[in-house]
Amino acid sequence: MLKTFIRTIKHWRRKPQNTAAPVIISRNDHTLSRRDISRAALTVMRRLQDANFQAYIVGGGVRDLLLGGYPKDFDVATDATPEQARQLFRGARIVGRRFRILHARIGREVIEVTTFRGHHSNAEDGEARQSDQGMLLRDNVYGDLASDAARRDFTINALYYTTRDFEIHDYTGGMQDIQQRLVRMIGDPSTRYKEDPVRMLRAIRFAAKLNFTIAPETAAPLAELAPLLRNIAPARLFDEVLKLLMSGYAERTFELLNQYHLWPHLFPGNAREASNAQALALTRQALCNTDQRIHANKRVTPAFLYAALLWPETSAEQQQLIQQGVPPLPALAQAAQKSSSAQLAYTAIPKRFSMPMREIWEMQHRLQRRTGTRAFRLLEHPRFRAAYDFLLLREASGEISPGLGQWWTDFQQADEEQRLKLVRSLARDNANSARRSPRSRRRYKAG
Ligand code: ATP
Ligand code: MG
Repeated sequence: MLKTFIRTIKHWRRKPQNTAAPVIISRNDHTLSRRDISRAALTVMRRLQDANFQAYIVGGGVRDLLLGGYPKDFDVATDATPEQARQLFRGARIVGRRFRILHARIGREVIEVTTFRGHHSNAEDGEARQSDQGMLLRDNVYGDLASDAARRDFTINALYYTTRDFEIHDYTGGMQDIQQRLVRMIGDPSTRYKEDPVRMLRAIRFAAKLNFTIAPETAAPLAELAPLLRNIAPARLFDEVLKLLMSGYAERTFELLNQYHLWPHLFPGNAREASNAQALALTRQALCNTDQRIHANKRVTPAFLYAALLWPETSAEQQQLIQQGVPPLPALAQAAQKSSSAQLAYTAIPKRFSMPMREIWEMQHRLQRRTGTRAFRLLEHPRFRAAYDFLLLREASGEISPGLGQWWTDFQQADEEQRLKLVRSLARDNANSARRSPRSRRRYKAG
């Protein structure tokens, strides 16, 4: 599919960006077909068109289909205002303040319908607002298809497909950038990053996911403007982090975020610990495992991911407190408190994830204590599986020496009788080592 597509676009010349007249790619000259588009998106398009509005599929829907992938959702752009579009869909809701968008629900699918945007300098009555640093606080100025294309982030995200005559409209050279595998900002990159610093993260996300290169002039301002991420609400950054790290391309994303100096503005504590080889190995291993789980359709949770990313600083702080005489568990609780609240200033961590994150950490201690009925009880713990995976991760990164992980692997695979044997042999080992050293005997008794 990709081959055919490339053959058909080979002869195109790049157009200067943002000209009013688009390059029009007729139905015979591209590989996108109505059959690839979800029923819900087609229904939304048809209803808008029947009411004499324009309707185009735009963004990831067009981009991913042209690249031979399957999009995760379809977005529709129209000249109908959110209020006009709402009339056409029962139960549709207008969401967002900064950008007002209509969520049209068709069956179980939600299609985002956005009204063509205009340039914010044409704003009236506070429909657009900008901060002193150039950040767009509000952008609800409506325009036409050409102005809408200019307001989108990257050329590959500004291709418009219409089911009226099955053409693709390209105002910004997106087709050629898809062919050359380039993430290129529309307009002046610095200005566009200042308007919305999240675009810096989006550039990385698309480069990692599609295995594209970021065009040099699009990449150039990233390192200097990275601190602007501090102006983004932590809740929005949390959502972006999940898209960056929980979409199956976390490892590559992490390398790019580092390469462009963005990582320290998302996870400053983790970035500080990266000079420690084991801490860096743990981060990489966690991201690699997350990618593998996603590609194997296994469940992943932000609690585990955050547990791994915040562990190096938490564990370093815990060790320091232990050296000052604080017992391990209270030391961990204090360290956890400190690292989580420091992180909250950057990306939010909703309670439903921060609680299990701390449990995963606490269980690292409990996993060591397996005598009597303890191992049997731990196995029943709702967080056991995550804590066990986390233990394996720590061993794989070299933070702790291997052994305990294997014991738990054996214990899980064993039947009841073998499990009893495993626990008994543990008690025997402990007793032997206690006889050898009176100090460890005290410790054994206390445990
Ligand atoms: P995916 O859905 O696969 O993550 P997408 O490109 O569809 O990728 P969305 O976040 O769904 O991304 O946004 C839809 C479209 O809206 C984008 O393709 C882009 O054209 C536009 N867009 C989204 N966020 C921004 C932004 N911050 N600045 C400018 N345009 C944006
Ligand atoms: Mg999308």
